[in-house]
Amino acid sequence: MMQTLNAYTEIVGHDVIDQLRQLAEPLKGRKVVHVNSTRMGGGVAEILAKLVPLMNELGLDTHWEVINGNAEFYQCTKSFHNALQGNTIAIPESQLRNFEEVNRQNAEQLRPVLEDADIAFIHDPQPAPLLSSFPERRGKWIWRCHIDVSRPHRPVWKYLRGFLTGYDASIWSLPDFAQTLPHPQYIIPPSIDPLSEKNIALPDSDITAVYERFDIDPERPLVTQVSRFDRFKDPVGVIESYRLSKRFVPALQLVLAGGGATDDPEGEAVLNEVYDATNGDPDIKILLLPSDAHRTINALQRASDIVMQKSTREGFGLTVTEGLWKGKPVIGGNTGGIRLQVINHHTGFLVSTPEGAALRTRYLLNHRDILDTMGIKAREFVREHFLLTRHLREYLTLMVVLMNDHPERVELS
Ligand code: UDP
Repeated sequence: MMQTLNAYTEIVGHDVIDQLRQLAEPLKGRKVVHVNSTRMGGGVAEILAKLVPLMNELGLDTHWEVINGNAEFYQCTKSFHNALQGNTIAIPESQLRNFEEVNRQNAEQLRPVLEDADIAFIHDPQPAPLLSSFPERRGKWIWRCHIDVSRPHRPVWKYLRGFLTGYDASIWSLPDFAQTLPHPQYIIPPSIDPLSEKNIALPDSDITAVYERFDIDPERPLVTQVSRFDRFKDPVGVIESYRLSKRFVPALQLVLAGGGATDDPEGEAVLNEVYDATNGDPDIKILLLPSDAHRTINALQRASDIVMQKSTREGFGLTVTEGLWKGKPVIGGNTGGIRLQVINHHTGFLVSTPEGAALRTRYLLNHRDILDTMGIKAREFVREHFLLTRHLREYLTLMVVLMNDHPERVELS
């Protein structure tokens, strides 16, 4: 369903939408190209699917391109992901050469769209080397980092940094992630689309349907984590915390809903670890959902008492925003972008261990009034900080700044 900007006025008000139109005015007709490595699965695809149509609606000529790679390429980029988020990993030279070659091939395929782009947003490490194939580019190129690089494994960061220094700017989700680079760095956290199938208000029938479909008892408490099966999301830790809570709340049920992203080769191994950890407990539901199951995920989050995101590293964590927006307190790992969203004791609880998550789960389930108050605060916090309209405003502002020859003074009309 095509959303128009006007539809957002009922959520954020007229002024916000008017300001977006004003900001977009000097950018009308400009060619903007986003490039990432998957159209399905994960937060980047989720955001681009919503942001790109709105940029087009505002009159920018916006394109979304996806690079393709072979299995070795995704092996390598998953190692980048793990190493940038802190794991010590040695990546074989042959994989690095393949990574570079795959990027050269993609650059040729994308040349017609990229060579005359006014602005190119290159998302995450996978397509970062594309810039090297455009030495004569005329537009501004921005590297947009979505992952937690607060403590990267240095040799891998050093290798990738070589591809980043030529960019005109970079964007990070929070200040902790910014690195030493010879260009301006901007802090722009991600966002959710309140009108998408993933986040829109649902009739009760949708919630009832997920209870029935997944054999969840609506009379018993439910904790849910929605995530790709990735070790940084700590699904096994979620199961441990559920077990600890269940000793005190025997009726507790747990849903771990996930699927794979097309650029994530490790999911299957992690999923097997998760199955082992469940030990056949019928109150743990492992749900493998197709990548377009947005409404089902929406309903599962709404059906839950608490949303969990017990990551040990997290660039941002859209699933946290999604839970908060549905009026659920979120118990989240005390890391990266989760810290921006989970305000301890207000919108949820930050935790570092399964024990901590279990303690907070029991506390909230035993204090329903506090759970409800936190849920109300949670939704308002997202309205103020993490909706697509704020994200769009910041991207537009950045584009105006970069297109302007005198970035210290920006004229908007
Ligand atoms: N998601 C989904 N299906 C799944 C798992 C995740 O649609 O099986 C969505 C989830 O609702 C969220 C996004 O994918 O919108 C994940 O973004 P997040 O920032 O939480 O994590 P990432 O996967 O980018 O590390």
